[in-house]
Amino acid sequence: MEDLGYSFGSAVREGTFMWTDYIIYALFGIITIISWIVQQALQSKFKKYSQVELPFSGKELAEKMLRDNGIDDVQVVSTEGQLTDHYNPSNRTVNLSQGVFDKRTVAAAAVAAHECGHAVQHSKSYAFLSLRSALVPAVNISSKWMPWILLLGIVFVQYTAIPLGIGIALFAITTLFSFVTLPVEIDASRRAVAWLEEAQITTAETTPMAKDALRAAAYTYVIAALSSLATLLYYVAIFMKRR
Ligand SMILES: [Zn+2]
Repeated sequence: MEDLGYSFGSAVREGTFMWTDYIIYALFGIITIISWIVQQALQSKFKKYSQVELPFSGKELAEKMLRDNGIDDVQVVSTEGQLTDHYNPSNRTVNLSQGVFDKRTVAAAAVAAHECGHAVQHSKSYAFLSLRSALVPAVNISSKWMPWILLLGIVFVQYTAIPLGIGIALFAITTLFSFVTLPVEIDASRRAVAWLEEAQITTAETTPMAKDALRAAAYTYVIAALSSLATLLYYVAIFMKRR
């Protein structure tokens, strides 16, 4: 015990352990737990609102929302898999998964309208969507090289700080990307709920359900961004305490 205490004390004195380490490890722990809770909440909410029926299918209301927003060059297509719904700006398609495309439920309506929200953002050149799209090439390059450069950076940190510094810069791009994604996602959901209500697709009873489902989805993006920031701080801490 005394030995442990002594080596721990000397490690603190020599700077191998830093208070920032404890904060970062605690942060990782908290984020992991919250991330799990958020995922469970999202699944249970979507399951719940998949039981509430609406008169329109995901495809039908997506096409109506696009028309109502004066968009006539975007196709609504069905895509394989679960939770694979997305808007593709390069070929102008709203891609809806099987659980959404032909389903007539509040959950399907929320997802379909959200993806159309991205198409509306695109047609209006919404600033954060443009910024996000501009970051995509840099993020792709970063994701490809970053793990290797960070690994080299940590292995050789005692000799040179250059690879770790480059790795941190690349990681910062992906962190920035995950934060720019937040307003894009929240705005798409806001547009979705506003339209669902205005077009009377949802009622006073079902609008709050659609809002609730989309809020649960938004939390997963918030957690992803915070998790990315915590990882960035972890590498910055290694960089700062190098000798
Ligand atoms: Zn989205």
